[in-house]
Amino acid sequence: MFDAANDNEDEETGPSRAQPPLYVLRVPETCPNCGSATGVCTLAASGLYDASDGDFFDRFIVLTHAAEVPEQLLALLRARFPNWYPDREEGSGTAYLMNHCECGSRLTDDDIHAEPGAAFHPTSPDACRNISLYRLPIGEELPLVCSWTIGVGEWLDPARAADWQAGDAGA
Ligand SMILES: [Zn+2]
Repeated sequence: MFDAANDNEDEETGPSRAQPPLYVLRVPETCPNCGSATGVCTLAASGLYDASDGDFFDRFIVLTHAAEVPEQLLALLRARFPNWYPDREEGSGTAYLMNHCECGSRLTDDDIHAEPGAAFHPTSPDACRNISLYRLPIGEELPLVCSWTIGVGEWLDPARAADWQAGDAGA
């Protein structure tokens, strides 16, 4: 039994909270369906309170399966990475921030994170060199429903992140 005193009357838990600065990581990828060169993104944060288990990570952490993303963040991402938007996996009811190829194919977070050698699952620090980091212009903590992964964040230096606007100029 859960301790009733800790239950929120609407939901079991509120959203998790991602700590600023927040980052977008981007890496080149090949579409498994059409073979085109594309790119895939994921979010990262400087810390995370994980509402599902009450843990707090006081460290750079890569976020996956981001659902219930605040509109403020969605608007920034949409302007820059229009193929990265909330969508559902086939047969799944939960929409999350998902990458797509120009051809419309979904590149799910499992595709890009789960297996060693996947876009965001490099097997050595050298394999991180093609990952670009962008620092989002968001100064406050953001509520977010998401999962997280530790692996790749260990090898990335957030200090090398490009400013969001500067990144635009170089694109
Ligand atoms: Zn494609």
